[in-house]
Amino acid sequence: MLLTLTTTHRPATDLGWLLHKKPARLQTFELPFGAAHVFYLEATEERCTAALLLDVDPVGLVRRPGGAAGGGWALDQYVNDRPYVGSSFMSVAISRVLGTALGGTCKTHPQVAASAIPLSARIAAVPCRGGERFLRLLFEPLGYEVSARRRPLNERFPQWGESAVFTVELSAVVRLADLLAHLYVLVPVLDDDKHYWVGRDEVEKLLSRGGDWLPAHPLREQIAARYLKHRRSLTREALSRLADEDAPDPEAVEETHAKEEEAVEKSLSLNERRVGAILAVLRAIGARRVLDLGCGEGRLLERLLRERTFTEIVGLDVSVRALEIAKDRLKLERLAPAVRDRVRLLHGALTYRDKRLSGFDAAAVAEVIEHLDPPRLAAFERVLFEFARPGTVVLTTPNAEYNEKFADLPAGTRRHRDHRFEWTRAEFAAWANRAAGRFGYAVRFLPVGEEDARAGPPTQMAVFQLIAASDAEDGGHAAAGPERGEDGGSEIRPPEKKATTS
Ligand code: SAH
Repeated sequence: MLLTLTTTHRPATDLGWLLHKKPARLQTFELPFGAAHVFYLEATEERCTAALLLDVDPVGLVRRPGGAAGGGWALDQYVNDRPYVGSSFMSVAISRVLGTALGGTCKTHPQVAASAIPLSARIAAVPCRGGERFLRLLFEPLGYEVSARRRPLNERFPQWGESAVFTVELSAVVRLADLLAHLYVLVPVLDDDKHYWVGRDEVEKLLSRGGDWLPAHPLREQIAARYLKHRRSLTREALSRLADEDAPDPEAVEETHAKEEEAVEKSLSLNERRVGAILAVLRAIGARRVLDLGCGEGRLLERLLRERTFTEIVGLDVSVRALEIAKDRLKLERLAPAVRDRVRLLHGALTYRDKRLSGFDAAAVAEVIEHLDPPRLAAFERVLFEFARPGTVVLTTPNAEYNEKFADLPAGTRRHRDHRFEWTRAEFAAWANRAAGRFGYAVRFLPVGEEDARAGPPTQMAVFQLIAASDAEDGGHAAAGPERGEDGGSEIRPPEKKATTS
């Protein structure tokens, strides 16, 4: 595996300082899977090219204790493309051998390390699963000029056709540390394989190397999924954390914002009224098994638990912190087993299909929809109405028209900084009617809180009722089959194994 890094920054030999590798020396480093050599192909004032050559030892890997992937005598353990192509081995080498540069520090040349300089990276061979288009979609949004040349399967037998391997060159005016971070994350993503077991610490690596640029990347979901070897629970966790990664402590900020919202709405004791209105609907329809989707800190769960008619109560939220607070609020540890067994807390995101959510009489979705990015709404609708498909859905959201009544809320602002939108009554009705029609529900609207003659109620509520539940099984109500995304992936993933935080 050969990676070369070239700069035309003047003096180009600064690259040696940035990489902490002297141009005049060949250096070799022993890594768990073989050797990494660093040397320079050229080093002049005008142009400097450093090379990282990886000598992956597949036989050594198999013989290492616990090294044989899958065991047995499969020949491909010994004979494979790993020694030759860019892969997760390259990422390990970057972090072990060029770690200081990856971290962006350079004692002698801090200014150059902190500056965008003309750089190009060339990877002699890398498998591009997803093809050249995917390669471009990965790197072009980050500002790289991408050149890619597909390699034939065998140069001596052109009739055998092309391989999945490309020679790739990426050029940009970029900080060296950023270029290395992009390669570190995206080369294994291109390759879509990893040579080691991917566990929770991989989420940390992704967040630490990708936190600055991944949240804004249009392919962030595929990137996270491939980086985490398609382990869905990890991908979910990474994505939910990435979404807020620009904030210093996203959940702490969320809490402050929630308090601000509470302060705005407190005079109306809206929270209380919302919970009351939702409970009234759930009681009226005789619901026994209920979901609280985006349960937050568990206010509704607490009330549901007090009523024995609710025999199975499941709260789901994307925020682990919120779930921890909910757990404390419910005092789960101290409850009698018969009570405790009626409630479960699940960590999950409402934009992913989740088998754990199907088969319920009703779902409450209180003050959650306005936290979803508009492009995610379609996925949320399918997760809720098509896959979870409860008999009744009680959904609340702020009424934007009422905002003018809040004295403390400057005109044109929303009640909560994390709200992606706040709908007028007409906008909410348009959304709800369309979703109901598409998924075979009937919908009616109820006000929550004191209604103003002109602005309407502070909170608006829609109650969706599944029509003709007997027809529901045939799936004919909605577009058939899961939506396939780019790269054969899908935002709506197949169901997940049980994982509870309770
Ligand atoms: N339903 C609660 C909390 C509302 S605040 C109440 O009425 O008091 C919104 C909640 O939605 C937050 O706890 C947030 O973590 C959660 N949330 C936001 N996006 C989500 C998603 N995609 N999946 C699951 N929960 C989400």
